[in-house]
Amino acid sequence: MADVLYDKESDEAFRAYLSKGEIRLQCCSDCKGFRYPPRFACPHCLSRKWHWEKVSGEGVIETYLWYCQPVDPRFADVPYNVAVVRLAEGPAIYANITDAVLDDLKIGQPVWANIETRNGRPRLSFVRENPS
Ligand SMILES: [Zn+2]
Repeated sequence: MADVLYDKESDEAFRAYLSKGEIRLQCCSDCKGFRYPPRFACPHCLSRKWHWEKVSGEGVIETYLWYCQPVDPRFADVPYNVAVVRLAEGPAIYANITDAVLDDLKIGQPVWANIETRNGRPRLSFVRENPS
């Protein structure tokens, strides 16, 4: 079954920006709301008008969880975390906090974007130490 919400072209453009070291999110040209992951329509007002908007990559951990048992053979290297990071600009991103060990994360903790390449694809994660 096809994912009717997944927009491959926008996802590839998002990753192309990551390859250049930039985090750009789709921003609705009508209501100015961000949408992430990339989608063909605004989740706030359903507008299809949008543009790419650069964001800082700074945020705070809104919530997180640790996977201690592998639930998928592709993610067998446990434990690993998945966090909801609320960016300074407002949108939330699901991501891994790469420099954390088990029980090392706190809700409200500041984090910074970390763009790395895995399997030839740019990947957005976050770190707890400010890289600058
Ligand atoms: Zn909108």
